[in-house]
Amino acid sequence: MSRPMEKVVVVVGAGVAGGSAALTLRRHGLPVMLIDEQALPGGQILRAPSDYARHVVPPNHEFADGDRLRNRLNVSGIDLRANTRVWSVSAGETATGVTLDLLSGDHIDRVETDTLVVAGGALERHLPFPGWTDPRITGLAGASILMRNGGVLPGRRMIVAGAGPLLFSVAHQIVELGGEVVAIIDSGRWSDWARLGLALLRDPQRLTLALSWMRRLRRLGVPIHHESHIAAAVSTGSGLSVVVNRTGRGSVTLAADAIACGHGLKPGTAITQALGLPHRHDSAGGYRVPQVDNVGRTGRPGVYVSGDAAGIRGGAVARLRGIVTGHAVAHDLGVIPDRTYRRLVRGPLRRLARLDAVSRRMLPLLNASADLFGAVPDDAIVCRCERLRAKTLREVMQTGAHDLNQIKAWTRCGMGPCQGRMCEDTARGLLASACGVGAEGLDGFTPRIPFFPLPLSALTGDFVYDDIPLPRAAPL
Ligand SMILES: Cc1cc2nc3c(=O)[nH]c(=O)nc-3n(C[C@H](O)[C@H](O)[C@H](O)COP(=O)(O)OP(=O)(O)OC[C@H]3O[C@@H](n4cnc5c(N)ncnc54)[C@H](O)[C@@H]3O)c2cc1C
Repeated sequence: MSRPMEKVVVVVGAGVAGGSAALTLRRHGLPVMLIDEQALPGGQILRAPSDYARHVVPPNHEFADGDRLRNRLNVSGIDLRANTRVWSVSAGETATGVTLDLLSGDHIDRVETDTLVVAGGALERHLPFPGWTDPRITGLAGASILMRNGGVLPGRRMIVAGAGPLLFSVAHQIVELGGEVVAIIDSGRWSDWARLGLALLRDPQRLTLALSWMRRLRRLGVPIHHESHIAAAVSTGSGLSVVVNRTGRGSVTLAADAIACGHGLKPGTAITQALGLPHRHDSAGGYRVPQVDNVGRTGRPGVYVSGDAAGIRGGAVARLRGIVTGHAVAHDLGVIPDRTYRRLVRGPLRRLARLDAVSRRMLPLLNASADLFGAVPDDAIVCRCERLRAKTLREVMQTGAHDLNQIKAWTRCGMGPCQGRMCEDTARGLLASACGVGAEGLDGFTPRIPFFPLPLSALTGDFVYDDIPLPRAAPL
């Protein structure tokens, strides 16, 4: 049953961006529904820690900031829908208004709104290598959630691999919990880090944090291999034997209990693509991103995108983006006049421009593995859901599949429960390499609903077979 809520602003994602947008909207007196699949608001960086994690993880500003956000949301009068996933969205061709299908537990619901803010955050990119499906290998995001929010180490002796500043954040979290970092394997170049360091002079808070991590890791003698990547990981029974390729310096084999690896972030675009919003390729970040103005307005009236969903820039930018999107929605709905709106966004937009310029320096590092996606070895599993190896995908490309959706149709790559979240970047990289074109020219998999697997019972609801009105059989 659909419930029209034209006057209620629906915000998807209760991370730092969605939470800030929702609070700003409430400040302007607007009714807000805030939807998030997690049990508590906070999103990725302000995720609520478990009681155990509060005991074992050293106090940090993310716990404090997250608690503050949750407390403010609790008393704000916002209709908070936790443990609720948006599994489908639709909109008419011309009319305003969006319909969202929600799943909470095994209960489905449908809401309609004239004003939607999409703040669903980012997805991690994964570079496959032979052995990466071993259960001792996790994403950087997964490892971070286990450690920061669960207080649990994925392994005692760990390798941290991939691209971008998360490498150092996760390595630091491992030593904070008493683990050992065997090595940091970084796809990026030392010179890109030096450029980011210079840019961080304009963001002293982040610079101080980064320097404190680096000092501690250096004191512990953690080796850092730049321009390197994991070529293979083999189980030795009690641990992993990990082959690392280092550009121009040959390979090295390391032993570890577990690996945390992630090769950059990209905006989650399932909702914005399903709504048919225009997207563009961001060459610095190496991802597709919805086209928005500086406050999150899309080309479609009443639909806004905020935070990392509008391009990866980190938590501080996401918060400011949420605030300005909240003001923009209130202005566009006629709740605040032009002058008030301009006054309210002036300061946040100025700070946003400064931090945004710094965060853009981070993008080459997050995108440092771009060339490696096309060179994934034949025997590496690319699509984990359907257990498809790179060799199979290369074969269909040679047979004539020159479009990601064609590859999906021929092989089922991207058709499993993860809906291509894990394999799309690799499939695109392999295709770009096979066709000799830039990855930016290739569209992604077309998102299909449901965005996540749904229990059939949620769709059918409670029913008794005898109650189904079956037409009488035709007389023989
Ligand atoms: C492991 C990791 C560590 C990071 N560390 C840092 C750091 O130290 N500093 C920093 O500045 N940035 C960090 N980032 C980046 C950081 O996550 C973002 O910049 C910031 O959290 C973005 O805020 P957001 O509100 O846009 O998205 P998020 O905080 O990711 O919030 C989005 C929310 O939307 C929810 N959601 C998404 N889709 C749906 C759906 N269909 N239905 C319902 N809910 C949905 C998600 O569950 C999530 O709760 C990190 C990212 C990762 C992955």
